[in-house]
Order: sequence, then structure tokens, then C-alpha cells
Amino acid sequence: MSEHNIAIYPGSFDPITLGHLNIIKRTSRIFDRLIVCVMVNSEKRGLFTPEERVDMVRRVTARFSNVEVDFSDKLLSEYAESKGAHVVVKGLRAMSDFEKEFQMAHINRRLNPALDTMFLTATEKYTFLSSSVVKELAAYGANLKELVPREIIDEIEAKMQQRKEEKHGDRH
Ligand code: ADP
Repeated sequence: MSEHNIAIYPGSFDPITLGHLNIIKRTSRIFDRLIVCVMVNSEKRGLFTPEERVDMVRRVTARFSNVEVDFSDKLLSEYAESKGAHVVVKGLRAMSDFEKEFQMAHINRRLNPALDTMFLTATEKYTFLSSSVVKELAAYGANLKELVPREIIDEIEAKMQQRKEEKHGDRH
């Protein structure tokens, strides 16, 4: 038994949304320490670099004293072990999340039998919110106020603008 109850909340956070932040807030009340871990997936190139994602998550979670932010390109089960964490927290939006998460939870426990996965159900108003939805809407210049933390709206809009200019540049 470790001295503290440490949980890991892994994800892509490309970018972090109000749905993610809601899970972070609720989880931070349950555990002594929460590590939000930006998982770097080499096959998926995100809109933001891992460093940018970590920076955004840090900024919007700064007020939670027991939350820290990290990134990893290791297997989640190994990462958890290296941090002495026994719980992985996941948010569940709908049944469509369940199948994949159920499978992942079993795989992770097989790889690290001391590791359990806990699911928190998404708050109703964020059930349809995902990072992809944010990216899609941002590309059309929609208002992001209800979707992502205030502190990162400008950064998302600037990145979208930059992407547009890059694409435009490609055509010339
Ligand atoms: P996304 O699906 O938004 O790209 P991630 O890959 O970053 O999200 O997911 C990290 C974790 O956050 C997953 O457990 C995912 O189910 C959960 N999650 C994502 N969006 C929400 C939301 N709106 N409410 C609750 N949990 C969420």
C-alpha cells in the first residue's frame, strides 16, 4: 500500500476540453494526487505538439494543488507503475466509449495486475464534447466558449489560423 492514493488520468488532450476538466476536478477530490498524463501516440499526429498540450493542461489546472501534468510515450501500465499509481481514471461519455475502454482496462490489468481502472460518467452537458468536435468547430470559426477553458481559446484559434495559412501556402 503506497503512502498516497495516486491516480492517473491519461488521454490525448488535443486540446483539453471542459469535459476533461470536469473529470479532473471530480477526480482530484477523490484522490490525494492526480497525474494528468498526455499520452504521446506516434501514429497520431495531433493538432498540437505534446509540449503545447502539456502547457495548456498545466495552465487550466494550475488552481488544483494536488494535480500535476506530465507526458509519456510509454505503455500506460508501465507509466503507472513508475509513478506508484494503482488507479487509472477514464471518463465515459456513451456506450460507444465503453467497448474500447472495457478492452483497454482488461489489457492494462493483465500487463500490470496492481492497476485498476475507474470510470467516471461524463457530466450530461459534456456528453457530446470531444477534442475532435472542438477542432471541427474551431476550423469553421465557431465560438468555443462553452467547449474549452477560457484560457486556451486564443491559442486554439491562433493554431487554426496557422494551419489554414499553411494549407493555403501549399497550394501556391
Ligand atoms: P477525446 O475523446 O476528447 O479526444 P482523449 O483521448 O483526450 O479525449 O480522452 C481522455 C479521456 O477523457 C478518456 O477517458 C475520454 O473518455 C475522456 N473524455 C473525453 N471527453 C470527455 C467528456 N466530454 N466528458 C467526460 N470524459 C471525457
